[in-house]
Amino acid sequence: MENWLTKRAQLSPDRLAVQYQETKLTFAQMKEKVQRIATQLAQFAQDEERIAVITSNQLQGYLMILAVQQLGKTVVLINRRLSAREINFQLQDARVQVVVQDDDFALALSVDQQVSFTEVLARPVTTLIEPVAEFDLDAVTSIMYTSGTTGNPKGVMQTFGNHFYSAVGSALNLGIMADDVWLAVVPIFHISGLSIMMRSLIYGMGVRLFEKFDVHAINHALLNGEVTTISVVPMMLTQLLAELPANARYHKNFRTMLLGGGPTDLTTLQRAKAAGIEVVQSYGMTETASQVIALDAANAQRKLGSAGKPLFPVSIRVAHQDDQQHGRIQIKSPTLAVGYLNQPEKYANTFEDGWFDTGDMGWLDDEGFLFIDGREGDMISSGGENVFPDEIESIYAKLDEIKQIAVVGVPDKKWGAVPVAFVTFKDGQTLSRQALRDFGRDMLAHYKVPAHFYKATDFPRTASGKVQRHKLRDLLANASEIE
Ligand code: ATP
Ligand code: MG
Repeated sequence: MENWLTKRAQLSPDRLAVQYQETKLTFAQMKEKVQRIATQLAQFAQDEERIAVITSNQLQGYLMILAVQQLGKTVVLINRRLSAREINFQLQDARVQVVVQDDDFALALSVDQQVSFTEVLARPVTTLIEPVAEFDLDAVTSIMYTSGTTGNPKGVMQTFGNHFYSAVGSALNLGIMADDVWLAVVPIFHISGLSIMMRSLIYGMGVRLFEKFDVHAINHALLNGEVTTISVVPMMLTQLLAELPANARYHKNFRTMLLGGGPTDLTTLQRAKAAGIEVVQSYGMTETASQVIALDAANAQRKLGSAGKPLFPVSIRVAHQDDQQHGRIQIKSPTLAVGYLNQPEKYANTFEDGWFDTGDMGWLDDEGFLFIDGREGDMISSGGENVFPDEIESIYAKLDEIKQIAVVGVPDKKWGAVPVAFVTFKDGQTLSRQALRDFGRDMLAHYKVPAHFYKATDFPRTASGKVQRHKLRDLLANASEIE
């Protein structure tokens, strides 16, 4: 396929490509800038096959990622919030020797060259480099690590074809309008953000880039019609709703809030519905190059709580045991990554009869809508019953006093395992152990009611706000119970 940036700049040179703070670039302007940066960047990395970019959601980093692509090299995306040890592991894993980074990134890393954006942009340019003519759909263009929710992140190799089919699958579900602008506050070093960048090139769509999740600024952009679409993770939706003035309605230009990346409780979805927000639930992972299952607007309200149906290029099945309705979610899709970096066996082992096993559990209703239970590894087998922390958390989210709750399974002599909960309360509020237990008994089967409620101040989380349950278990030894 012809180079997407070159092609896009030919097709719609004057359309908005990206806006960051007060700076706006059309596709023609962006192409020119990226070509210049690619020329400068090449001076640091002539023979390198891969270049790592460490950036927050800011314009220079955005253009830098595109510049690596224009050079025909693979971009390795690094979560800038990781520690030096974690980053060095990923750089070594990806055999990267050149890192380009935000000016204010301060960690010293074990590579030959660590170059700041300003240093790249200071390089003299005499003759502009020729961008690659073709984007080979089978070529790996990005290497990106999984979020590390369940353990060590895996390097996922994504091809141009993965990104292309992902963008097309999303468009066939959500539609494309000429003046669409997609707000990107989800990190561009994760697939949720990078996929917005790729859609922008493929659709000719504007991106409004936000560096920080500033609730007020983002609500403002949604209220005054500056953007038509936004991707959010559950924590962002909760915060946007909490700060949205009563009776305020997002602008009619605003079409879609694409929600994904982790489980959302029903209470939050109902609040969003009451505020008139078009939430489109979706499900996907780094390995599937973003969403592969999504609700469509027509069913968003009717199937509240479902992650939806597979996108057009995607097939799913739920691998059951015996006559169980619940099982492992498995996928076939042209968006499936070509492998885990340096771990071909690990990747091969995730396939069953040609189906990729997501490691998540769920069930399909009689119309084919997928409901997600949670991760197989988080499942608690208690007295022969399977319990998912997500369900328990979702029920407790109804309690106004609770700020956050996270449930894990612990071994139990009698039942095999039982759920226990870590709870944080909203400022100035609290509930007794008895009240928490009584509420659970009213709302849940007895074996789902947490056996203990522990005090917490904060939870170990990934960059996108997912609770790392395996780390929570480590806190058990010193946890004290709510009285
Ligand atoms: P790691 O693989 O390193 O443990 P991770 O699985 O969190 O981290 P990602 O690829 O960012 O890394 O996240 C994909 C996972 O997020 C899915 O496998 C699933 O568990 C969860 N997830 C995504 N969307 C949803 C959703 N709508 N509902 C519930 N869980 C979801
Ligand atoms: Mg995963």
